[in-house]
Amino acid sequence: MEKRTELYRGKAKSVFTTDNPDRLILLFRNDTSAFDGQKVEQLDRKGMVNNKFNAFIMQQLEAAGIPTQFDALLSDNECMVKKLDMIPVECVVRNYAAGSLVRRLGVEEGLELSPPTFELFLKNDALHDPFINETHVYAFGWATPEQLSRMKALTFEVNDVLKKLFDDAGLLLVDFKLEFGVHHGEIVLGDEFSPDGCRLWDKETRKKMDKDRFRQGLGDVIEAYEEVANRLGVPL
Ligand code: ADP
Ligand code: UDP
Repeated sequence: MEKRTELYRGKAKSVFTTDNPDRLILLFRNDTSAFDGQKVEQLDRKGMVNNKFNAFIMQQLEAAGIPTQFDALLSDNECMVKKLDMIPVECVVRNYAAGSLVRRLGVEEGLELSPPTFELFLKNDALHDPFINETHVYAFGWATPEQLSRMKALTFEVNDVLKKLFDDAGLLLVDFKLEFGVHHGEIVLGDEFSPDGCRLWDKETRKKMDKDRFRQGLGDVIEAYEEVANRLGVPL
């Protein structure tokens, strides 16, 4: 498979075309950003850790029957994925209150949410990824009711699979964000699943093991990502 031109350079990954029009290469860079790209730093090994972490999670999800973009790990920092027509809507599930939910509703961080919540955000940095509801998705044509209903069902399935996986590794899956796209008419999980896009706390101590370490300047960001990977048995 031949890597061709850079199609898109995001905040953390670059997307390349290949000689197969149905496949793309995702390159995971060390760039780490927060607050819609206002805080950016290079963190050694992050691209490698997130690439391998994402490959492991996507393969677990695929094995559980969830359609994902994942095709193959190509190198430390690259993987091959199905080319999706991305839907510009972020699906967020929360099992415990944190982040923007705490700010929005004034609830205490760590409050258990039962049942878990499901939220939608528009993927738009210039507008700071605003909170939206399903009627906005239909009115603006970002996805059809059938597509959104599938995205929501898959997001909850992902939560069931990953809550258990992280629990077995002594971690609480606090919340996470997913992006979906369309591939040959089917809704498929795209983008990435890594500690950059979820919150993970140690079950006993509630130590933060995710990108909040970067957002909040807690230090040892990649050390925490690597510990999560080691606990799950991700080969780094
Ligand atoms: P951002 O766009 O938020 O800065 P990234 O740096 O992660 O994020 O860039 C990756 C980009 O690639 C995102 O815009 C994402 O929607 C897009 N993308 C992820 N997976 C796929 C895929 N399988 N097919 C097409 N585009 C994808
Ligand atoms: N998230 C993400 N990308 C975004 C916004 C949120 O990956 O553009 C993830 C974030 O890491 C967390 C979850 O989605 O795991 C919920 O994020 P929240 O709404 O609390 O926003 P935050 O306070 O993290 O900006």
